Amino acid sequence: MSDASDCAYCGCDVTAHDPVYVREDGSGTETPYCNYGCLSAHIEEEGLALGTTCSIGG
Ligand SMILES: [Zn+2]
Repeated sequence: MSDASDCAYCGCDVTAHDPVYVREDGSGTETPYCNYGCLSAHIEEEGLALGTTCSIGG
């Protein structure tokens, strides 16, 4: 059975860890990660953090 409880990065059942949920642009759904470690790794691999900071006066 596969629903929204599998980590988007490593595929583990997030409920066995300390899950973090992220709502990504346009999807309207929350993407689960085991914890901030998996979220951070996913962000780094995909380059999602590039150019996304809400800098003041930029
Ligand atoms: Zn994970």
